[in-house]
Amino acid sequence: MTNGGGIAGSDAELIVVGGGLVGLTLAIACAEGGLRTIVVEAEPADALRSKGYDGRSAAIAHGSQQVLRAIGAWDRLAHNAQPIIDIRVTDGGWHVRGESRGYVHYSHLDLLDRRPAPTLPDAEPDIIIACEPAEAAPPFGYIVENRLTRVALLDRAKECANLTHLAPHVVTALDIARDAARVTLNDGRVLASQLVVAADGKQSALRRMAGIASRQFGYDQTAIVCTVMHRKPHNGVAHEHFLPAGPFAMLPMTDEILPDGSVRHRSSIVWSEDPRLVPMLLKLDDEAFGKEIERRFGMSLGEVRPLGPRFSYPLTMTLADRYVRDRFALTGDAAHGIHPIAGQGFNLGIRDVAALAEVLVEAARAGLDIGSVEVLERYARWRRFDNLMLSTFMDGLTRLFSNDIAPLRFARDLGFAIFNRTMPLKRLAMRHAMGIFGKLPRLVQGRPL
Ligand SMILES: Cc1cc2nc3c(=O)[nH]c(=O)nc-3n(C[C@H](O)[C@H](O)[C@H](O)COP(=O)(O)OP(=O)(O)OC[C@H]3O[C@@H](n4cnc5c(N)ncnc54)[C@H](O)[C@@H]3O)c2cc1C
Repeated sequence: MTNGGGIAGSDAELIVVGGGLVGLTLAIACAEGGLRTIVVEAEPADALRSKGYDGRSAAIAHGSQQVLRAIGAWDRLAHNAQPIIDIRVTDGGWHVRGESRGYVHYSHLDLLDRRPAPTLPDAEPDIIIACEPAEAAPPFGYIVENRLTRVALLDRAKECANLTHLAPHVVTALDIARDAARVTLNDGRVLASQLVVAADGKQSALRRMAGIASRQFGYDQTAIVCTVMHRKPHNGVAHEHFLPAGPFAMLPMTDEILPDGSVRHRSSIVWSEDPRLVPMLLKLDDEAFGKEIERRFGMSLGEVRPLGPRFSYPLTMTLADRYVRDRFALTGDAAHGIHPIAGQGFNLGIRDVAALAEVLVEAARAGLDIGSVEVLERYARWRRFDNLMLSTFMDGLTRLFSNDIAPLRFARDLGFAIFNRTMPLKRLAMRHAMGIFGKLPRLVQGRPL
């Protein structure tokens, strides 16, 4: 397991397949840690930078923000990142009068030992109270458009001397030998390295090529995603309403300043719906589409209308049976693709990256072979529990709440009420969702490798 200097005739020490959010973050972290790295991405860089590629925004948890900061990408994003200081989860939605009214309210002030001032009076959930982020308590995280995160990462990648970005190129074959891992590109070129990491998404072709099995579960839900504008400010509050067809999230985005100086309040919606209704909903004109949103979300933000294109994503959970084998590792959605119910998919991927980059850079500095299974198992052991626990929890939550069966509704509302009043449990859940729970990799602590 020695050979820290790399294999003779290799093109790089590390090849990352997939230059999405996770692959780019890993490639930058490892290249800055001193590993000669190639990232191969199927899409042209211009497409990844365009508005039409991906309508999603991600809730970037506090821990993930630390990672992006540590690799030098956060400062490019900060002005487009909306802090989340309050999260309100309801069973059925506040506006569904006479129906289930179970709810959980998280304030970032709850993270402090002593709360400076009450934020939301529990009895009046319809009222959105202006909340300023408190200096002492960090926000839960930030909402950022995926496109802007990708642009920041692509720009940062260009500055890394140790990093080569090959796009558009598709990896069509993988060959794992004792001394090296080789990938074949669609132009016939073969690249060799000590280690290949797959960050090629939920349907990972590399996972199959490496002979790693996976399990996929469907939800019979499709997510409609788009940016919306609304009359009232969101005050940094993120909402999640558990509706019978699936969860409906309204995530606060930064305000837009229009050329005439007026302010446009914006949020990103993730609306899980019956797949049979989705084609019809996507075709509605803006007014009718806005009314459908109001029917599900209520009027606490005033009139809501869509802004820009609408996207849809079929929702599934995919779990790889294992994360590593000799000279090969899985990260991000290629290892675990989960339901977006709590906006944790990318955050799990970033935590993979932080752990894997630390393991690889330390191994290389110690003169070890970064492709050896002994080194890679350290990463797998570090990440398996967190990923499995969160994936299973999100799956259970989705199934428990995506129905309207009365006894179940009663039971979950009771659960909500108990949970909402049990501060130690809430704090634990908040710290986990913020990605600052358990053994933290250096990058998650905001420290360089
Ligand atoms: C509706 C929705 C909302 C979400 N909201 C959130 C949220 O709020 N917070 C959060 O943390 N997560 C969220 N997620 C999850 C998050 O979007 C994903 O976890 C994340 O994008 C996964 O990134 P990735 O880089 O692993 O995979 P991908 O984004 O799928 O990237 C894979 C890349 O690999 C490339 N590729 C594929 N095959 C090859 C090949 N053979 N050769 C070369 N390149 C290849 C692709 O072109 C692509 O660029 C959401 C997901 C959905 C569906």
